[in-house]
Amino acid sequence: MIFGKIEKNEKIIKFNVEIQCVNCCKKVPGGMKSGETYFNTQKFNRDLEEFKKTYHCGICRDKKRVKRLKNVLKLKSQH
Ligand SMILES: [Zn+2]
Repeated sequence: MIFGKIEKNEKIIKFNVEIQCVNCCKKVPGGMKSGETYFNTQKFNRDLEEFKKTYHCGICRDKKRVKRLKNVLKLKSQH
């Protein structure tokens, strides 16, 4: 997973973070990549915190999508 921005010809830093789904608490080992100039900056750390706080695993993301789709269908059938 690419985190942040990697410029052309920039050195890529690979790192691992343990991310946890905020919905079902499933832990996901996150193999991430980032550009050297962005890695470990203040913004980087802030973005990473934010990312962790809002992370949904694939399963929960799918559930959310299905729910939204159902709502759309419900709205349509009311008309
Ligand atoms: Zn989940």
